[in-house]
Amino acid sequence: MPVYRAPVEETLFILNEVLDLPAFRDLPGFADLDPDSLEAILREAARLFEDVWAPTNQVGDVEGCMRHPDGSVSTPAAFKAAYDAYREGGWLGISAPEEYGGQGLPGVLNSVVQEFASAANLSLAMYPGLTQGAIAALFVHGDEEQKRLYLPPMIEGRWSGTMNLTESHCGTDLGLIRTRATRNPDGSFALTGAKTFISAGEHDLCENVVHLVLARIDGAPPGVKGISLFLAPKFLPKADGSPGERNEISCGAIESKMGIHGSSTCAVNYDGATAWLVGEENRGLAAMFVMMNEARLAVGTQGLAISEVAYQNALAYVRERLQGRALTGPKNPQGPADPLIVHPDVRRTLMEIKAFNEAARALMLRGALAADIVRRSPDPAARQAADDALGLLTPVIKGAFTDSGFANAVAAQQMFGGHGYIEDWGMSQFVRDARIAMIYEGANGVQAMDLVGRKLARDGGRAIMAFFAEVGGYCEAHADEAGMAEFLTPLAAGLEDLRGATVWFMNNAMANPDNAGAGAVDYMHLFGRVALGYMWARMAKAALRRPDDPRMATKLVTGRFFMERMLPETAWRRSRVEIGADSTMALAEDAF
Ligand SMILES: Cc1cc2nc3c(=O)[nH]c(=O)nc-3n(C[C@H](O)[C@H](O)[C@H](O)COP(=O)(O)OP(=O)(O)OC[C@H]3O[C@@H](n4cnc5c(N)ncnc54)[C@H](O)[C@@H]3O)c2cc1C
Repeated sequence: MPVYRAPVEETLFILNEVLDLPAFRDLPGFADLDPDSLEAILREAARLFEDVWAPTNQVGDVEGCMRHPDGSVSTPAAFKAAYDAYREGGWLGISAPEEYGGQGLPGVLNSVVQEFASAANLSLAMYPGLTQGAIAALFVHGDEEQKRLYLPPMIEGRWSGTMNLTESHCGTDLGLIRTRATRNPDGSFALTGAKTFISAGEHDLCENVVHLVLARIDGAPPGVKGISLFLAPKFLPKADGSPGERNEISCGAIESKMGIHGSSTCAVNYDGATAWLVGEENRGLAAMFVMMNEARLAVGTQGLAISEVAYQNALAYVRERLQGRALTGPKNPQGPADPLIVHPDVRRTLMEIKAFNEAARALMLRGALAADIVRRSPDPAARQAADDALGLLTPVIKGAFTDSGFANAVAAQQMFGGHGYIEDWGMSQFVRDARIAMIYEGANGVQAMDLVGRKLARDGGRAIMAFFAEVGGYCEAHADEAGMAEFLTPLAAGLEDLRGATVWFMNNAMANPDNAGAGAVDYMHLFGRVALGYMWARMAKAALRRPDDPRMATKLVTGRFFMERMLPETAWRRSRVEIGADSTMALAEDAF
């Protein structure tokens, strides 16, 4: 069975020494996260996810979910106890608002927990993950009555949440949504339509399912301007808040799919279901974006999580498996062969995954910290700067992390040779599970277009200029410090590639928008490399403060590897952006 060890020390290093969490103690909730409490919480989380969740992952994959003739759906048998342990530990509400029963701790802590949970069992992590997104959307856009009735049981984890956007004819282009909302005399609405691919749309882990649904009010304008957000519970709550009468919502089918077998992916039918408007009429997409942005960061974290757990299992394997001799002479002369880890190509594979994971964790937590500042800082300038940074980082974390997460799962599987292809070892499951993160929450090509088409130009390019200033300023400020040149020189070169590609878009994408579309994915990965390089520079700086610590020596070697062998990808990405769309778009459609 695959193993998982939550990266507690790594996470503490990033939070305390790289992101300097103690410096944020004036923000609400942060004072409770002194280094000792933080460590205690992470160790408690590690115990839950290593000992209780991880053992349910492979059995959940084999067993999958089942839809019964009455429309109910059961999750794998081992899931309920694992979910209950999580719920009873209060993990779902650690960062949720205190006035509704949450613990009000920083969201950055929740991101750590999401990583551990997704690595231990991605399918199971989907259920509370969607609930957290729904909590965020209701907290921001729900009215007082909706918050009073729904938030406490959701924060406790007794009720779960869903996100109903997709219909069979539309996923990316939500302007095509057909689900209808008809006004009832009492102010509620009747929803009619069919949603598809709804994660956690029906299951047996919770008492009630709270659906957040995009639909079109009768007579609303066409396209995205006519979409509203609705709340439709599976059981209508009674006045005292307990689940009452069954709503007209049913699960028509569950999908048979490539991975995340323990996550129920449902066709959900609304047959005049009672629902209530959330937020303003025809502003549903904006309201749903609260949930989608949360979910995009969480999905990016899933990419990192699978990369980490796949790496851990590959590492254990290549230490044990004896095959061939080291090029420089036997390293295990007593044995019949050397372990796989002696071979440079195996080392390269390990280093590429390790160097990604450590920087990706830092960037993911930096994004989460920015989200905390947006929500909690009293300083409008700090909120705006954090919001700008988060806007840029969200598509990069979602797109670049999940592309790398899948590629790293494949690379980790490769280290097992033929055994990686056999289900028993669990590597095949990691590959299958990692694949979906590139698709849902907006396919990665669409994330790249969000970055290039919307985020770069927003507010006259304020966010990207601030990013250039931050990273460029960091390179200049620390250029003369001992040991930093080998990190900062390549980072400055990578930043120059990003700047060049950005300027190229400014000069060439307006005249021909296909230039933006054809280069967007390369730009997203170019941005990702520079942002990860920046995290490596900051981690190196923290590591250099402790020259006698062997863990920090390891950190510096890994960072050097990233700078030498992974960051230079920026030049290649830039050249692909700057070549434009001509050869990409030259073929007539019928020539394919
Ligand atoms: C397991 C699973 C769970 C899911 N969970 C949920 C859920 O909980 N809630 C929910 O609402 N949905 C969910 N989805 C749906 C998912 O979010 C969509 O499948 C996804 O957003 C893509 O939409 P689509 O399938 O309609 O593909 P399409 O929109 O048809 O896109 C197909 C391809 O074309 C590309 N493309 C489309 N438009 C453009 C464009 N303008 N420019 C460039 N490229 C473009 C896309 O990148 C994609 O690669 C889930 C899907 C799966 C498989």
